[in-house]
Amino acid sequence: MASLANSETNKYVFDFSTECWEFYQGIKNLKKDDVKIKTKLIEYLKTGIKRKPMPDKTHWENVKELLMMIRRNPDHFKKFAKKHMCLDIERKTNSLRDGWYLKMKNVSIDMLKDMIKEYCYKYVRCDEKGCMSYNTKLKLDPKLKSWVMTCRSCQRQKVVEDIKFSKIC
Ligand SMILES: [Zn+2]
Repeated sequence: MASLANSETNKYVFDFSTECWEFYQGIKNLKKDDVKIKTKLIEYLKTGIKRKPMPDKTHWENVKELLMMIRRNPDHFKKFAKKHMCLDIERKTNSLRDGWYLKMKNVSIDMLKDMIKEYCYKYVRCDEKGCMSYNTKLKLDPKLKSWVMTCRSCQRQKVVEDIKFSKIC
């Protein structure tokens, strides 16, 4: 019985009220599309991250689901994930559907969750006060050679911060 109780305490506990507050604060008029994206994202962060620890890596199985939800470029997201978690990432196959190998043993749900939230705050959420919509798009501008985010709610456009590797992991 004792071992069962111990395994229970290792389970990840989701703080629903904090997460919701962080994702919904600052929103005055939620548009339908934005509610849809946010609800899916919260659902994904709550239960949906499928991850299998392996001897020398972790298989992130449903990264495609996340990228479709937030409509982001896999390479842009991968670069950020590598930098944020300080690890290498390999595609399992040529198909994004098969997920990614994170080259670290037992990457925790919390690590992934923190990284996803940070990415959303930097590259998905509109930073216009009073808007903060997640219904945005990110495109590489060939002339500027930079990624430009456009908000579908308030139409704001901005060049987002470059992802630079400044430290050696
Ligand atoms: Zn906006």
